[in-house]
Amino acid sequence: MKKRRGLLIGRFQPFHKGHLFVVEKILEEVDEIIIGIGSAQKSHTLENPFTAGERIMMIAKSLFENGINKTFYIIPIPDVNNNAIWVSHVKSLTPPFDVVYSGNPLVKRLFKEAGVEVKTPPLYNRKLYSGTEIRRRMITNDDWQSLVPKAVVSVIEEIDGVNRLKDLLKSDKI
Ligand code: NAD
Repeated sequence: MKKRRGLLIGRFQPFHKGHLFVVEKILEEVDEIIIGIGSAQKSHTLENPFTAGERIMMIAKSLFENGINKTFYIIPIPDVNNNAIWVSHVKSLTPPFDVVYSGNPLVKRLFKEAGVEVKTPPLYNRKLYSGTEIRRRMITNDDWQSLVPKAVVSVIEEIDGVNRLKDLLKSDKI
């Protein structure tokens, strides 16, 4: 029987428990999930501190750690400077998919206009579980660890991610 495949696109800066919740919800509805790492070309900025490769590590290790036993594909997707062709660009890089899951209005709009089924996953405490909040806490030495899967804590420690963000803050101020 044909597998039903769902696509979730995000920047995952970093991958947090809200994202993990969404992945688990999506996997209740589809056989396989494609996780597209958006803005894959970006790293080492305050908004996008982590490379695509680092984000792949965070996601793959979190899914293994949480016992996800369905097939997942993690695909880096660099941005293109033209929203009108972005959906074709995404399709050229990913396995075929039947449905896109996103809470991002632009992402939803572009896929809908391209005739793709779009679903909005439920939110999981969006104020707390947000990349912006986690990066803020890293800079102010507050508890960010409880907002991300344990595997993400390990990856960020391995790459010295918190000091990277703090260094970026210094250079941005100069
Ligand atoms: P994100 O990491 O902020 O979020 C990823 C997904 O998780 C979103 O659907 C969001 O709604 C959901 N989410 C986040 N926190 C959640 C929570 N607490 N509970 C439940 N769900 C939660 O990423 P994003 O900003 O949506 O990423 C979109 C990507 O698509 C960006 O990289 C953007 O550059 C890219 N994009 C590129 C183009 C182009 O290149 N022209 C056009 C459109 C979008």
